[in-house]
Amino acid sequence: MAHISFIAVAAFATMVSQVSAQTSRDVTVALEIRNLAAAPDTVLDGAMRGVRAIFDRANIGVESDEPFQIGGRRSLLVIVTDKRPKSRLASDPLVLGLAAEGVEGRGVIAYVFYDRALQYARRHSLPLSVVIAHVIAHEVGHLLLPRPSHADTGIMKGAWTTIDLMEAQAGRFSFLPEQSESMRRYLSPARPPEIDGEMASN
Ligand SMILES: [Zn+2]
Repeated sequence: MAHISFIAVAAFATMVSQVSAQTSRDVTVALEIRNLAAAPDTVLDGAMRGVRAIFDRANIGVESDEPFQIGGRRSLLVIVTDKRPKSRLASDPLVLGLAAEGVEGRGVIAYVFYDRALQYARRHSLPLSVVIAHVIAHEVGHLLLPRPSHADTGIMKGAWTTIDLMEAQAGRFSFLPEQSESMRRYLSPARPPEIDGEMASN
C-alpha cells in the first residue's frame, strides 16, 4: 500500500509541475515530437527539457501533450528521422535539421536528422539530448520567425562553432531578444486578425 501511495504522490507532483510549467507563460507553442528514428525516450525527454529551457528564456511556454493539428500557427510537428526529404539542403551532411518553410518563412513542420545529430554529438563530445534540443529549437525558430530568420549570433546562427556549442551546453545559447519578441507576437492569442492570412502554405 505504501508503495502505491508513493507512486500516486509522485504522479501528482509531476502533474503539478507540468501544469505550472505550462501556465507560467501567457504565450505558448505546442510541439508534437514524432519519433521515426527509434530514438530512446530518455534522449527525447532530455531534449524536450532543453527545448523548454531555451523557449523559457524567450518567455514562451512549450506544451508537448497536444497532438499536432493542421490549421493553427501554434501547433507544430517535429519529425525526428534518419530519412531525409529530397532537397538540396538536406543532402548536405552538415545539415542537422530542416524546417518546411513557406516563401515568407514560417510553417508548421520541421525535421531533425537523428543519425547526423548522433554523429555530431559524438564528434563534439556533447550529450545527444543537448544537440537535439538545440536543433529542435533552431528549426522551430524557422517555423515561428519571418525570413530571413538566420542571425549572426544566438541560436538562429546558420552554422554553429565550438564556442556556440560550449554556450549551448552551459544553457546560454538563446534566441535574440528581437527574435523572442517576434515569436511572442506571432504566437500571441491577442494578435490582430488582419495578420491571420500571412502564413504561406509551403
Ligand atoms: Zn537554420
